[in-house]
Amino acid sequence: MALLVQKFGGTSLGSIERIKAVAQRIKSSKEKGDDLVVVVSAMGHQTDELTRLASEITVDPPHREMDMLLSTGEQVSISLLTMALNELGTPAISLTGTQAGIITESAHGRARILEIRTERIKNLLDQGQTIVIAGFQGTTLGIGGIAEITTLGRGGSDTSAVALAASLEAATCEIYTDVPGVLTTDPRIVKNAKLMKSISCDEMLELASLGAAVLHPRAVEIARNFGVTLVVKSSWDNLDGTTLTSNKKPDFSQGGIEHRSPVDGLELLENQAVVALSNIPDRPGIAAELFESLSEGGVNVDLIIQATHQIDSNDITFTIAENELHNALTQCEKLINTIGGDISFQKDLTKLSIYGAGIMGRPGIASSLFQILSDSGINIRLIATSEVKVSCVIDAELGKKALRNVGEIFKLTDKQITLNPTIKNNNEPEVRGIALDKDQIQISVKNVPDKPGTASTICSTLAEKNISLDTIVQSERKHKDKTKDISFTLKKNDRSDAKYALKELIGNWKGSKLEEGESIVRISAVGSGMPFTKGTAGKIFRALANQKINIEMIATSEIRTTCIISEKYGEKALNEIHSCFKLGKNES
Ligand code: ASP
Ligand code: MG
Repeated sequence: MALLVQKFGGTSLGSIERIKAVAQRIKSSKEKGDDLVVVVSAMGHQTDELTRLASEITVDPPHREMDMLLSTGEQVSISLLTMALNELGTPAISLTGTQAGIITESAHGRARILEIRTERIKNLLDQGQTIVIAGFQGTTLGIGGIAEITTLGRGGSDTSAVALAASLEAATCEIYTDVPGVLTTDPRIVKNAKLMKSISCDEMLELASLGAAVLHPRAVEIARNFGVTLVVKSSWDNLDGTTLTSNKKPDFSQGGIEHRSPVDGLELLENQAVVALSNIPDRPGIAAELFESLSEGGVNVDLIIQATHQIDSNDITFTIAENELHNALTQCEKLINTIGGDISFQKDLTKLSIYGAGIMGRPGIASSLFQILSDSGINIRLIATSEVKVSCVIDAELGKKALRNVGEIFKLTDKQITLNPTIKNNNEPEVRGIALDKDQIQISVKNVPDKPGTASTICSTLAEKNISLDTIVQSERKHKDKTKDISFTLKKNDRSDAKYALKELIGNWKGSKLEEGESIVRISAVGSGMPFTKGTAGKIFRALANQKINIEMIATSEIRTTCIISEKYGEKALNEIHSCFKLGKNES
């Protein structure tokens, strides 16, 4: 007999008929002999409706009162569903977040879950009850132990369900929703997008804009950190849906369920080399040719960055293991002989990375990493960011010092620090899914001083305004006055705040200026098998070149390759890359 947590979203509970149908489904699960904890959202669009009512009274309702109001939505659905279950002869009892022991921090409207006191739930389970719990809400312990109702933020009942599954060590957490699961890409743009059978939580987090449409990212974060097996499936049929996996062992010793250190690992990978091609032509097909020939030469490329400079010339920089340098240079020379441009390289480098699901959406993390490196007098050769990882390439001789100082700042224990990690090749696909992010703009800061601390100052200036840089590309090329350029993308919403903050900052740097690029989109291909497969990047660049799509920026991390391209090609590019990896229906 296993314990299952099942969560039903608003659409699945949109009417009395649907509530009865859900009750029927729960009854049949129960009859298979499993113990059940059920988490529900408010019926249909009830939360929106309640929000609208409040807005008819005030434009600025107190957060506490909003929580009092919105939490009633879930209270309606738990009681109705419980009545329906009892009516079917399935003994059930409803609990609010407070009654279920879901303790949160006190931030009304966006509270994070600290712990779940599961005694009452466990007692009721022992009595054979099916327990129906209100999602999206919890309680603070309050001053002097006075409880206050809190809510977790919109979409938060996914998070409630996974947190319950983690605390109760449930075998599986099933999220029933109105889509069949996680698809390989956006089906509104790519007609033959296919349902994934499984995906790792890390991949799901990297596919942020794709994944968030299906699951609350905080729910994925908890599943990842506590090794919860999470299944997303449709409540309209009996199909399998998508299974999200994480091989982490649950560890409650590291602070609250959602209040852990955002960084949970630090790695140093030694014997790295950087190769930089500069002044190469800026036209579709160059990046494709380069990475195809590297892969033909047997070179496995790790990080790649590309930034466009003048109107018609590009720099592409990539990292490889040092022992592949000779091979890589041979391939590059061949190419440069036909297209023109310069090659430079550097050995004796080290890649330092921090990772953790909590890096996502917390701009202060990358900025404190850059800060500590700069305080230690370490210049960052290259930066690669992804949703859950930030990597910096630095001089090898400073590697150990960096490791110590960074470990200290993020309070990591020896167990969380790895020197030269070896990752297992589990034969995962090189590309699992592709996300198109239309919500980005591109900004370059030109002619910044080339010295430790510049990237860190830019990031921390933005982090203070709570603005995340999504793709950062620090180019290798130096201008005549020894300055260089840093380009990045950020959310459209943050444009004016970011520009304002940056203008003030670059006032301190003589000759430095801001430049906003043309409208762009960000396409990310993600797959756990990417580090083990040669030529993934080459395939992506070739797919774009075939459509004559020019790449503005390239930024990669281990399991993700991101291209920034002009907005007008976004949907075409998505289709092209999706089909080049044969991800669609009837393609594999
Ligand atoms: N009812 C809440 C909302 O609509 C929570 C949820 O559905 O997950 O945001
Ligand atoms: Mg939802």
